[in-house]
Formats: sequence, C-alpha cells, structure tokens
Amino acid sequence: KTPLLQVKNLNKKFLVRKGWFQPPSYVHAVHGVNMTVNAGETLGIVGESGCGKSTLGRCILRLIEPTDGEIVFEGQNIRSLQKPDMKKLRRDMQMVFQNPFDTLNPKLTIQHILSEPLIAHGIQKRERTAMIEETLEIVGLNKSHLSRYAHEFSGGQRQRIGIARALMLRPKLIIADEPVSALDVSIQSQILNLLQDLQEQFSLTYLFISHDLSVVEHIADRVAVMYLGEVIELAKKEELFQRPMHPYTQSLLSAIPITDPDEKKERIMLTGDLPSPSNPPKGCKFHPRCWACMDVCKTEAPLLTEADGRLVACHLYEK
Ligand code: SF4
Ligand code: MG
Repeated sequence: KTPLLQVKNLNKKFLVRKGWFQPPSYVHAVHGVNMTVNAGETLGIVGESGCGKSTLGRCILRLIEPTDGEIVFEGQNIRSLQKPDMKKLRRDMQMVFQNPFDTLNPKLTIQHILSEPLIAHGIQKRERTAMIEETLEIVGLNKSHLSRYAHEFSGGQRQRIGIARALMLRPKLIIADEPVSALDVSIQSQILNLLQDLQEQFSLTYLFISHDLSVVEHIADRVAVMYLGEVIELAKKEELFQRPMHPYTQSLLSAIPITDPDEKKERIMLTGDLPSPSNPPKGCKFHPRCWACMDVCKTEAPLLTEADGRLVACHLYEK
C-alpha cells in the first residue's frame, strides 16, 4: 500500500489568555503527531473530547494552520503551498462534519449548497446540474430534494447532504469528524454503511474521527488513540480491540458496554479527571490516572515506538 497522507511531527498550540494581568499560556492541542494513512484505508482516531482529534483533522486540511510539522499528501508537503495551489488541492481533500448545517445559511436550498463547491472550482452550470443530480442519487437522495431547505430534512438526510457536498468534487481523502454522533443509533448504521459503499465505489480514503469506540470498531481498518494531543497507540483494529496495550486504551475499551453476556470483561476504572490541556502532567501525560505508573513515568515522556507490530507510547513496553 502507498501512503496517501503522512503527518510528520505535527504541532498545534493555541494561545490562551486568562486575564489581562496574567501572562499568556499555550494549549498544546496537537503534540508531535506522526501518522501514515494508506490509500483506500480507514484510519480511525479515537479519544475523549478535548484530546485534540478534531484539531488534528482540521490541521491536516489546513482549515486551521498548524504551528509546525509536515503534512505530506501524495508526496507533496502541502504546508508549503500558497493559496491557489491549496485551493486546487481541496478537490482531493474534503471534510464531513458532525452537524453539516451548523455553518450554513438556512435560507439556502440544497441546490445552492451543493453548487457552492462546484462554482468555487469553476465548473460550468450545465455540468454542475448533472454532477449534483448524480451525486444526490449516490447518497440516496434525488433531484426532488433540490429546491428544499436544510431544515426540512431529518438528521440522517442532512448528513447525506453533507456527504454529497464533500463528495461533489470526487475527493481522494475525506476527513469525517464525528459524522454519526448526532444521529439515532438506527440511522448511524445507515450512514456508516453508506460511507463504506462510497469508499468502495470511489476508492476513498477516510480519516474517521470519533469518541465512540463501537462506531470506530465498525468502520476502521486501523485505529489511532489520542490522549491530551498525543497519539499514544496505533494498531490494526482487530489487534487493538482484542489486545489493547497502552493502559489508557485498556481503560477506554473496558468501558464499552458488553453485548455478549458470555463474554467476561473486567472493567478498569479510570481514576481522576482528564487533566487540563493547558497544564498537562509532566512525564507521561497519563501518569496521574495510570495504575501501572512507575517512577520513570513521572519525569520522562514515553515515545511512540514499535512494540509487537504496533505503535505504543508507554514505558511498560520499552526494551
Ligand atoms: Fe502508565 Fe507509565 Fe505507561 Fe504512562 S508510561 S501509561 S504512566 S505505565
Ligand atoms: Mg471534536
């Protein structure tokens, strides 16, 4: 497999000022993230809210400018691209959001919403109509929906429109940020199945961001687990779910409700709250909540290194 996307040592720091009289401080929302996404795969990104996964997704598309690091898409470091070239590249990289209509004018029709990306890329009117109608059918809607407004649609239909909008220019990579989190469980699986069908049909690559482990287990090929801005474990889905190695991954997985009553699972309770991202613990950021914490963990940050065919950042697995 060829990597479609490589993220190299990516950082995003946000400046926060608590009061006029206090010096500004930083939130290190994305901290030294390295990952490779192969063409045609789905890489799931999981973690509690505030762990930096949405910021990471937006940084990769440069919707937010990273502080430093590289984003290599098809061999090209896109952080060095100027606006016109970046705009061209947006055809290949699209985003699907949790609430696709949050940022859109409710007075616009679906026709208008779906035309926007095409107009922005200079596609002529006659072609636009054909592309819109074709894409609507692909996501399970039809042209009778075109003259309606966003608020007239159910949550599931809205997400279909959000997906159609992302798909309109036939991208290679779609970053989906909690695309089903606002939907009822029955609708969730319809949308997940649609995403899987589209992946096959259009050879799409997904970066799938979610706090919901069962959703990620359903859709991902590999999974990266994030904690306070860092990737702490990255593995094939089956391996991660069957045998999580990082103590944080273990605690996350043990919190999933058991569907098979014969399956016994010991629940690991996390002690303590998620620490403030603006003042993370020294050493391993997870150490105040970790039952396996050793002296070294309080002073030295573990690096993401290969262990047992996967990547994990924990002193327990260092040789
Ligand atoms: Fe726990 Fe130490 Fe591993 Fe961090 S490095 S997860 S504190 S054992
Ligand atoms: Mg988020």
